Amino acid sequence: MSSSFQSELTGSFSTPCDDNPTVAMVEAAYRHHGLSWRYVNAEVPPAGLAAAVAGARAMGWMGFNLSMPHKVAVIEHLDGLGESARLINAVNCVVNRDGRLIGENTDGKGFLSSLVPVCDPRGKHVMLLGAGGAARAIAVELVLAGVARLSIVNRSADRAEEFARIVRAAKPIEVSVAGWSGDVVVPGDVDVLVNCTSIGLGDATARVPVATASLRPGLVVADVIPNPPRTQLLAAAEAAGCTTLDGLGMLVGQGILGIKYWSGVEADARVMRAALEEAFA
Ligand code: NDP
Repeated sequence: MSSSFQSELTGSFSTPCDDNPTVAMVEAAYRHHGLSWRYVNAEVPPAGLAAAVAGARAMGWMGFNLSMPHKVAVIEHLDGLGESARLINAVNCVVNRDGRLIGENTDGKGFLSSLVPVCDPRGKHVMLLGAGGAARAIAVELVLAGVARLSIVNRSADRAEEFARIVRAAKPIEVSVAGWSGDVVVPGDVDVLVNCTSIGLGDATARVPVATASLRPGLVVADVIPNPPRTQLLAAAEAAGCTTLDGLGMLVGQGILGIKYWSGVEADARVMRAALEEAFA
């Protein structure tokens, strides 16, 4: 459980800070762009969330990021939601807009910013593996960006059906849902395959059950896993001639958007990616 707060402080605070990779990434951007801002990481237990948000509000902080389990619970403490956060019903980035704390969801937008340079999602068929928070954020953003069709594959059927309902509420596009048994075969008309499961986190040998023979040149294969960035799925996809996108691109993309929301500065992706790679090395 952690929340990262970002502020222009007029007082001084002393707190133990965990310099995690995201902190390294955002602070590298601040230094590069000459912003004398800080991005600090604070552990906030669920019982302390209301007080933490009230504190950020009282101190006039420009915003903060949230991770689980605060992404839904924070909503009742905010003054409004951006469109994606409302559709997904989850907030990972709060922005102080003229004293009003507005909840945004930048995970899916971060993914989109890494996808668009290699593939325009408009009219495409995207297959998503997984139905958790990352999958929902990505799906809603893809739908808003104009994908024609989504195929969802998830281990637990209930969660996949609930996920499909959220997507259809965002836009009435074609959404199909399938359970996961054995190796998933990627149909020939799928343009983009995204691993949104947590398989591969911290383990470059962990295998996402996908039929390697169904990976082919022309298919874009993306993985949300940022660490290690070269997952077993991406290695197999590369060997099959697919275009690949790693999870660092998504993480950098959501970071750029947060900095833009808070400061108006368009941060340099290369600087942020280099800081992340160093922190994860
Ligand atoms: P959730 O816990 O909400 O969802 C996890 C998903 O993975 C579920 O669909 C779950 O299926 C599936 N899953 C887990 N283990 C298995 C398995 N062994 N076989 C099949 N399916 C499995 O997590 P999030 O969606 O929040 O996060 C998922 C990953 O995305 C994390 O590893 C996180 O690090 C990464 N992430 C990356 C970001 C980035 O910027 N790069 C941003 C946000 C997240 P089921 O529903 O059946 O349990």
